[in-house]
Amino acid sequence: MTTIDSPSGASACPCGGGRYADCCAPYLRRESWPATAEALMRSRYTAFGLVDSEYLLRTWHPRTRPESLQLDDRRWHGLEITQVVDGTEDDQMGIVGFTAHWSSGSERGTLTERSAFVRRGGHWFYLAATPEGE
Ligand SMILES: [Zn+2]
Repeated sequence: MTTIDSPSGASACPCGGGRYADCCAPYLRRESWPATAEALMRSRYTAFGLVDSEYLLRTWHPRTRPESLQLDDRRWHGLEITQVVDGTEDDQMGIVGFTAHWSSGSERGTLTERSAFVRRGGHWFYLAATPEGE
C-alpha cells in the first residue's frame, strides 16, 4: 500500500486548519479523537491525503463501514468547509458540507459532499453522504 510521509508538526495541515501539530496530527497519530464532527471531517480529509485507509475505516460508523478500502491515486489539494450543522461536543448528530479539490495525472476535479456524522460511545463517526435538505 502506498503511504505518504506525514507532514512535520510545524508545517501547514493538509486540511487548511492551521499547523499540522495543532490540527489533525494528534488524530492521525491515534493520540486523541476529534471532539467535533467538523474536526473529524477535517482529519478524514487529511487521512485521504496521506493515504491512511486504516484511519478512514476506524472513524467510519460500523453500520456503513466497508470491509476494506482501496484508495485511488488522486492527490488532494485543498478543503473548504461550506456548511456545519450541529456536530458539537453537545450533539449526537452533525452534518458537514465540504468541497475538496483533487488531481489525478492531468485531470482535475472537485468533490462536493454533505457528510452525516453520528456520535457513538462518546466518539464521532462518519455515517454517510447525505442529500441536500435532508
Ligand atoms: Zn487539519
